[in-house]
Amino acid sequence: MKAALLTAFDTTPEITEVPDPECPRDGVIVAVRACGVCRSDHHAWKGADPDVALPHVMGHEFSGDVIAVGPECHGFSVGDRVTAPFILGCGACPDCRGGEPTICNHQHVIGFTGWGAFAEQIAIPRADFNLVVLPEGVGYAAAAGMGCRVTTAFRGVVDRAKIQPGEWLAVHGCGGVGLSAIMIGAALGARIVAVDVNHSALDTARAMGANLTLNAVEHDDLGEAIRGATGGGTHVSVDALGITQTFHNSLKSLRKMGRHVQIGMPLGQHANPPIPLLDMIYSRQITLHGTRGIGAHRFASLFEMIAAGRMDPSRLITKEIALSGVAKALEDMNEFTGHGVTVITDMAS
Ligand SMILES: [Zn+2]
Ligand SMILES: [Zn+2]
Repeated sequence: MKAALLTAFDTTPEITEVPDPECPRDGVIVAVRACGVCRSDHHAWKGADPDVALPHVMGHEFSGDVIAVGPECHGFSVGDRVTAPFILGCGACPDCRGGEPTICNHQHVIGFTGWGAFAEQIAIPRADFNLVVLPEGVGYAAAAGMGCRVTTAFRGVVDRAKIQPGEWLAVHGCGGVGLSAIMIGAALGARIVAVDVNHSALDTARAMGANLTLNAVEHDDLGEAIRGATGGGTHVSVDALGITQTFHNSLKSLRKMGRHVQIGMPLGQHANPPIPLLDMIYSRQITLHGTRGIGAHRFASLFEMIAAGRMDPSRLITKEIALSGVAKALEDMNEFTGHGVTVITDMAS
């Protein structure tokens, strides 16, 4: 099969033939029809993600068709249109059985601990536990973000922070996952403040339902600006980027007893930022929520929102490219100047 093979970090992945994946006994082979290009692919490409070993195939936001089924997989057939969360659980441990496969000790992370979907095919192990059938109304390109940015935002805002209608939600960083958080928050009746350094990203944020937008470079004290505009601060605030500045800005956005959600993955120099324990966590009684991925069983709630017309993940897609365009898409992420989401929809060229 064709794949975008990375043999050295921060170099152009080579579009080349690699062996077809073997079908796991309890899994399936999926012919990839679409795969999103995500900021965490950029982290992997740069060599910033400790899980990635070379040579490697990135890509974790896929959708496609089942083309082979292992003898111990019973819930899927050839021809099923599918996607999967990027964290695959073992399905057997207490965390998986308790409905929390994202903290499974035996997890397989597509495109990180194993090869991903910047390729014509991908193997998905333990498919009965991890694979998700796409509803008819959800196309391949729209579904390509379901396994990562859309579901990660959903788990962060809904399952972890438990956003309520009428509450204020601040979103720091309006890339794919930030825009998803805005769309989901708006669908649930939250009032939203979107923050970015890029005017076109803020325009998109407004189109996705943000009530207020602030350009971080235009405010000396962003926290004060947000607290002033929201009557004391937001109830929930999301760091959708994972750098020290957005983390601190998120904390400063919150009203007393507010809930911070860490969605962006903090890496390198941003891995262990100072935490204002006395001023924020203790005195203002702020809660910190970590979140990462989602379990396959939670996709149903999102599909219901889509079917009811309350959100449309295809609106996030600003560019559709061929597999050979992936290097350029990753390079474009070096600066935070892009907006919206790029999806590979042609895996053969
Ligand atoms: Zn992702
Ligand atoms: Zn498990």
